[in-house]
Amino acid sequence: MQGLFRKRRVPAYLWVTLGIILLTVLLHIIGISDDLVNVSLVYLFPVLVSAVYWGMGPAVYAATLSVIMFDFFFVPPYLSFTVEDLRYLISFVVYLAVAIMTASLAGRLRQQLDRVESREATTKALYDLSRQITAISDLDTLLDNMTSHISRMLGNPAVIYLPDSQGELKLWASSGSGADSEKSIWGGHSSELAIAGWVYKNGQIAGQGSPMLGKSSGLYVPLRTEDHIHGVLAVDMTASTMEKQQEQRLLLEACGSLAAGAIARVKLAEEARLAQVTAESERIRTALLDSVSHELRTPLTAIIGSATGLIENDHLFTSEDRKELTGNIRDGALRMNRLVTNLLGMVRLESGMLQLNRKWCDAGDMISIVLAKIREFSPQREITVQLPEEPVFFYGDEVLLEQVLVNVVSNAIKYSPEGSKVTIQVSEDKHAGSLLFIVDDQGVGISEAERHKIFDKFYRSPSTLHITGTGLGLAICKGVVEVHGGTIQAEPNSAGGTRIRIDLPAGTEELPLTCSVQGEAGE
Ligand code: ADP
Repeated sequence: MQGLFRKRRVPAYLWVTLGIILLTVLLHIIGISDDLVNVSLVYLFPVLVSAVYWGMGPAVYAATLSVIMFDFFFVPPYLSFTVEDLRYLISFVVYLAVAIMTASLAGRLRQQLDRVESREATTKALYDLSRQITAISDLDTLLDNMTSHISRMLGNPAVIYLPDSQGELKLWASSGSGADSEKSIWGGHSSELAIAGWVYKNGQIAGQGSPMLGKSSGLYVPLRTEDHIHGVLAVDMTASTMEKQQEQRLLLEACGSLAAGAIARVKLAEEARLAQVTAESERIRTALLDSVSHELRTPLTAIIGSATGLIENDHLFTSEDRKELTGNIRDGALRMNRLVTNLLGMVRLESGMLQLNRKWCDAGDMISIVLAKIREFSPQREITVQLPEEPVFFYGDEVLLEQVLVNVVSNAIKYSPEGSKVTIQVSEDKHAGSLLFIVDDQGVGISEAERHKIFDKFYRSPSTLHITGTGLGLAICKGVVEVHGGTIQAEPNSAGGTRIRIDLPAGTEELPLTCSVQGEAGE
């Protein structure tokens, strides 16, 4: 504001001179030149206006000019500076004193108003800054935003230093252009880094306008919360005037505590996230060990028991018994094979190493393979298949999608009573270019609250815990279907059981002429 006054000072004196000349002419035109008391009061007007708008200097100038005009044009003898009656001299002195006092009062009021305005602007700027940074959760974005906001607020370049993982202070963010190299921006030189390091270590403000290292070009403020110093905020003060420095220092300190609070908040959130990730991976590890050891031990016990029986007591068994025992060994091995396949699938999905081996496939062929695999471990269950009359083709990874359907159909068998029906339906929506697989059972069903959760890794419904499982199957199905650009959902069906619905895009690739031949060859 004071800079503004200085810039406007020359036109101010010009305006005051012009205003007083105009007033003198007006007083003559109006014709009250004989009423000296009123004339002298009217001359107070330019003094007040100058005090309010331009400060003390123009006001004193206005008072002096008014006295001269008053004396020259209105006090007898007219058009002369001599004064007939010496009492007028006393009046002039009193007038001058009153004018100066009034001007000083008005000037002080103006200054107070300016201060209030500047404080209001500061509060608004700080409020804007705090509002802007509360929503940011990424440290780099937060610091970039802060430095540019502070730099705009103070009109000077601003930088923030933070310690790296070794605890060494580094320039972290700067209001300068991102294209500038670290050394070419203010704050990046070794001398500036050294001062920042001192401020970080001692937790004290330093630099221009402060008692410590007052000759340096910048002002450095520690970013301190109650128990910790997070870094240093610094501003280049070369372009700042002495008058501005005190104001800017206060503002910088306020910005510093805002920045420190925001940095502490972001760090805390990051720590909480890390703790959550650690707890989650710990939970997954335990769940994996539990379910895998259980799922492996059950078939292993059956295999070992049957094999031991066959080896040790072979002579006691009839051929029927032997067939049953070898059947047990085979079932156990198949179950372990399914578990290992699912575990490998999970690992490939999690590591992002899942490569789709897509080709055109016949949905009917795929269902036949799925049925054959299911019959290996559940030969008795009745499975009804409904296929469209015309062969349906889709572009996908046949082996992985087979694994999906085997998982879904084996769940339908596992979670429904012996002898109940399982249905597989395949339909094609030519218009939408998609393929729909629906697997229905007449089992226990899935509560609405759990319909999404069952696709989470290791989730097992408490109502089905008595049936063995790992909670991996549907998570793999979801992963595989989604890599194909499809969706998988669980719904209730009219029989009170579960319906698993898989929507797959049929594929946009041109269907090769050889495809149907391939399909036939596969049968
Ligand atoms: P698993 O069957 O090895 O436990 P899944 O990931 O295949 O693991 O299934 C997760 C859970 O979803 C199962 O534990 C079960 O509670 C529930 N579930 C899956 N399919 C069905 C179904 N057809 N009927 C009822 N519940 C089911």
